[in-house]
Amino acid sequence: MMRLPKFEYRTPRTIAEAVKIIGDTGPEAQFVAGGTDLYPNMKRRQQTPRTVISVMRLSELNQVTGDGGQGLVIGASVTLTDICENEVIKRDYPVIASAARTISTPILRNMGTIGGNLLLDTRCNYYDQNYEWRKGINFCLKKDGDVCWVAPGSSKCWAVQSSDLVPVMVAIGAKFRLASTLGERMIDAAGFYNDDGIDYLKKRPDELLVDIHLPPASGWRASYQKLRRRGAFDFPVLGVAACIHYSNGNGNKRISEVTGARIVLGAIAPSPLDVTEAAQELIGKPLNEEQIQAAAEACYNKARPLDNTDFVMNWRKQMTRQYTLRALRELRA
Ligand SMILES: Cc1cc2nc3c(=O)[nH]c(=O)nc-3n(C[C@H](O)[C@H](O)[C@H](O)COP(=O)(O)OP(=O)(O)OC[C@H]3O[C@@H](n4cnc5c(N)ncnc54)[C@H](O)[C@@H]3O)c2cc1C
Ligand code: SF4
Repeated sequence: MMRLPKFEYRTPRTIAEAVKIIGDTGPEAQFVAGGTDLYPNMKRRQQTPRTVISVMRLSELNQVTGDGGQGLVIGASVTLTDICENEVIKRDYPVIASAARTISTPILRNMGTIGGNLLLDTRCNYYDQNYEWRKGINFCLKKDGDVCWVAPGSSKCWAVQSSDLVPVMVAIGAKFRLASTLGERMIDAAGFYNDDGIDYLKKRPDELLVDIHLPPASGWRASYQKLRRRGAFDFPVLGVAACIHYSNGNGNKRISEVTGARIVLGAIAPSPLDVTEAAQELIGKPLNEEQIQAAAEACYNKARPLDNTDFVMNWRKQMTRQYTLRALRELRA
């Protein structure tokens, strides 16, 4: 049985208290929400904070406010189950509810939060193993070692960004609010992720994710398609999030012209991949089969999955085309 290492557990009641604790404690400390990512990582000695600061008693992080008319603000500690069941999210942002529904299992969704999901550690077959297994291969660059077993000549870690909600947030243009003892800042989801499996966030360790700001829901539609081995539960090995902004001819509900588009691939690189070439195939045109095929081809051309998650990498690349087709055809329907 894998055991947790010893650590000090803190339970602040206010944001000011939480950021002060982490500011005072320094890099030895880490926030925890549901713990469904952090605690398994600690058991495997991938992450070893001496102090763990729970964010679950910060009431500001547990709220959902607003609606599709004005935009929605979701607190970072709202659980995935609450995201799936929230009536406003289901009505105005159905893509968020449906993507959240594909994450893990009902029990883990009761514990896991939207914030923890957006800050999920990157994943790799050579890293997501227990300590003895990793020691058997003399570890790797991401933790305790000095070589990357996926690309041995590389000085970069290629561990994969594996959250289902990240590509969706980038595609729809969400923003994140961060707080620390230095104050607050807002950052676009699109600029929040680094293409580096070790240093994968543009967030300092002392910054708390407070909430997620979604844009007003009118004038766009989005879809998320996920490839995984087991339909019941599994991390994505490819996720395609597509968002299109459109004009309605004569006020009818069919899309007459695409006025803006973003297609984002998840789970094939250390950061979400925004395929601007695919968007260019759609903008200024009706969403017809010819444009959809061209956008899917652009995604296929851009995808470069490596051999460090489930399934053969060439097949995952081919699936990029199929899953983009699915996402865009769903939006056209
Ligand atoms: C068996 C299994 C299957 C899974 N399947 C999926 C899947 O299919 N798709 C998927 O996307 N994920 C999956 N996950 C990963 C995980 O369960 C979810 O991503 C979950 O949403 C993580 O949320 P959490 O609250 O438990 O995160 P935690 O483990 O509490 O935290 C995750 C990270 O975020 C940091 N953190 C959390 N909240 C804050 C905050 N407010 N401010 C700053 N830092 C913070 C923590 O320090 C940690 O680094 C799976 C996990 C398991 C164990
Ligand atoms: S990509 Fe390389 S360095 Fe990164 S976790 Fe995998 S083996 Fe380690």
